Amino acid sequence: MTSRPVSSHISRRRFIGGVVVGSGLLFFPRFSRAVDALAPSRKLGVALVGLGGYSTNQLGPALRQTQHCRLTGVVTGDRAKGKKWAHDYGFSEKNIFGYETIEQIAGNPDIDVIYIVTPNSLHAGHCIAAAKAGKHVICEKPMALSVAECDAMIAACKAAGVRLMIGYRLHYEPHHIELARLAHDKVFGAFMRMDGANGFLMRGTSADTGNWRANKKLAGGGPLMDMGVYVIQAACMAKVEAAPTAVTAHFGPVTRPELFSEVEESVRWEMEFSDGAKATCLATYAENLSRFRADAEGGWARLEQPAFYYDEPKLTTSKGAVHLPKVNHQAAQLDGMALELMTGQPSRAPGEMGRRDVAIIEAIYAAAKSGQRSTVQG
Ligand code: NAD
Repeated sequence: MTSRPVSSHISRRRFIGGVVVGSGLLFFPRFSRAVDALAPSRKLGVALVGLGGYSTNQLGPALRQTQHCRLTGVVTGDRAKGKKWAHDYGFSEKNIFGYETIEQIAGNPDIDVIYIVTPNSLHAGHCIAAAKAGKHVICEKPMALSVAECDAMIAACKAAGVRLMIGYRLHYEPHHIELARLAHDKVFGAFMRMDGANGFLMRGTSADTGNWRANKKLAGGGPLMDMGVYVIQAACMAKVEAAPTAVTAHFGPVTRPELFSEVEESVRWEMEFSDGAKATCLATYAENLSRFRADAEGGWARLEQPAFYYDEPKLTTSKGAVHLPKVNHQAAQLDGMALELMTGQPSRAPGEMGRRDVAIIEAIYAAAKSGQRSTVQG
């Protein structure tokens, strides 16, 4: 462990988080020459691909707070918008690229990491182009639309000798890291019953009026891809990063058919783990909710208010309330990933983890469509 602590308290918890992931063996890293070559003494340059809501309201502002990385470029379809970002964030206009010119970032020394923040169906293509540019890649969740796409992304990054990480910000958030520690250390015993839900009330009109989240071609699926992936993540975290072996699922009622003609409005599913543990889960675009609870023989842990949004989650266990530092989720994630790159530490949210979750999502959709129990393909 060679990382320079951001603060001793957080650093200790980050270390614990790393052990939890590392202990799963599944996610052990490959150290590339590109990673080893990065000097810990400077801030890494990050280029955001897609300047929509998440980049504008969360990632861009977070990159003003980060200690180990900064915004040095953008990829956008709108050059005027790119110029405004260059002016606002103080990077050169030569660092503005278009979606078709991502590979040209290869020769740009200001950019170390390319962060994909476009609609889900574009992740695979943008990630592969970023890998061809020889830059490390962070890709937003869900990693891609299928396991086949995930495999192509992982292969492209491996061939280029660059890291692939998924924008799973909660692996860098102290309350979720504490949940992982409780599971890893079996503080209450193994968690055997889990219950989680995540969703928001989607407003707006139909899929063909610019709302890509309701458009099957762009989103790949509905709230399962967008919000349910957080519940999958929490349940796997509570099982020390084990994947479920099988799932059952059913779609909820469609209350607004004008909006949900292409993707589901809500879906409920149950995940079964090899030790007999079960997780009941809900993802929805019909209401605002965000909660998770895990029960073991010796106690329980609960995340709420909300569990998965950008605010500080409230963590309570059967021993009482747990008080941990409040962090900016995106800044913590970006700094955490920058440190992992600079020091050669394993990533807490590597491409293989994103692939695992897409395999689970595929099994859930298969189960919901067939009405049959579906095994999760590893
Ligand atoms: P958004 O609609 O606000 O932004 C999408 C951006 O992609 C826009 O700038 C748009 O111009 C661009 N784009 C490029 N090609 C496009 C095309 N063919 N069709 C539509 N848009 C195109 O979306 P967002 O909320 O910023 O989400 C982007 C990604 O980030 C998604 O994968 C989403 O799941 C993820 N996200 C993650 C979090 C998180 O907490 N980790 C939060 C929000 C979004």
